[in-house]
Amino acid sequence: MSVDLGINRRILLFPLPYQGHINPMLELASLLHLRGFSITIFHTQFNSIDSTKHPSYDFISIIDGTTSNHFDVNDIPSQIIALNTNCEEPFHDSLRKFLSENQGVACLVADLHWYKMHAVAKRLGVASLVLRTGSAASLRWFTAFSVLQEKVYHHLQELKKDELVTELPPYRVKDLIFIDKSRLGDIATLVAQDVEAAQNSSGIIMNTFTAIESDEIQKLHQELSVPIFAIGPLHKFTSQFQSSLLPQDRSCLDWLDKQAPGSVLYVSFGSLASLNYEEFVETAWGLANSRQTFLWVVRPGLVCGTENVSMPDGFDGEVRGRGVVVAWAPQLEVLAHDAIGGFWTHNGWNSTLEGIWEGVPMICRPFFADQMGNARYVTHVWKVGIELEGKLERRIIEKTVRSLMKEKEGYEIRERMRVLRKNASECTKADGSSHLAINKLVHHILSL
Ligand code: UDP
Repeated sequence: MSVDLGINRRILLFPLPYQGHINPMLELASLLHLRGFSITIFHTQFNSIDSTKHPSYDFISIIDGTTSNHFDVNDIPSQIIALNTNCEEPFHDSLRKFLSENQGVACLVADLHWYKMHAVAKRLGVASLVLRTGSAASLRWFTAFSVLQEKVYHHLQELKKDELVTELPPYRVKDLIFIDKSRLGDIATLVAQDVEAAQNSSGIIMNTFTAIESDEIQKLHQELSVPIFAIGPLHKFTSQFQSSLLPQDRSCLDWLDKQAPGSVLYVSFGSLASLNYEEFVETAWGLANSRQTFLWVVRPGLVCGTENVSMPDGFDGEVRGRGVVVAWAPQLEVLAHDAIGGFWTHNGWNSTLEGIWEGVPMICRPFFADQMGNARYVTHVWKVGIELEGKLERRIIEKTVRSLMKEKEGYEIRERMRVLRKNASECTKADGSSHLAINKLVHHILSL
């Protein structure tokens, strides 16, 4: 649908500089560009976006004061707080300059975690919208956080891990974002500022859709006093996709072309999760011993403390011809490939959505943050995956891989995934909920 865009036709976007946040923001950029908007992207030097891959957009680099691209995932909340503090003034100055030189800015769309940038935009008279890159359920964790802090996080010693969190079903205690006691303060600060930014925004754009989170989206409509636009899965509405921070090894697509339909297990733990060396070795031998054909992403830094790990002795010979290891895959194309029959994932939200969209049954091995909650939905709500729990041990891996790829449990999961996939595709049709929400979003932006 094309609309009369009037004069305010430029949208400013500011992604949080992590792969799982950059991808949906650039997908949104593509979607809005296709609807006729001009796009300016602010980006940090940390994990900076390669602007040469996006000639249709303008880019403005923001000095962020970060000295290294290496960090511990446990430090992400404090890193986000530091990024907000460091970028506030540079972003303010850049935005003020931009506004003095350009007219027709409709709004800023910034990640939920860019709470200070939302405030800067407001101060400079620019309407801001939030992009929440996680699930609706995980956003409800944010809005419920002060209650959860009192009722759950302060009582973790006394609570059973399998206990249902009555304030936020279907999460159990172990599905909640794990927070070390010493970091509770940092997280509480971050969450409070994020929620305030969302409440003060002109709307929340969500990378989810009604086929998977109808109730959660409905509850957010009731809980938050701002418009919500559930327009996912964003990658479905994208014309081109060039937002990988790491170079993609596309040779695996040629290899997949030679494999039988549904025969390959794709294994990827996303851009941040890491294994210790022992877990890495168990994973390697679990995959090898399963006798299953597989494609495994072993990205730099996957194994703690090693930038480029060598495969265990004997592994390459054992899996020759049926196992391929790459440093980074073109994941969307891999998941869409006919040869893929299963996805062993860490359940980052993007990977979860991408897997559902392509109808690929999952083995769920969440590591941190919202991943446990996402895995809970995959295994217990939509029932399209098997959870791989406990210590990573080769025999358990082997058994789980076989269950998913070869046995009755996997067959039943595949059937449910087929139905879920069909329902998901309904949302993106012309009269589907995501499509209608995009139309509403475009009109909303033009009315700001
Ligand atoms: N991804 C990719 N190639 C890989 C592994 C991951 O392109 O080899 C992409 C994947 O398609 C997804 C993103 O990286 O869009 C990872 O985001 P997600 O939310 O799943 O996990 P995170 O990296 O944030 O933990």
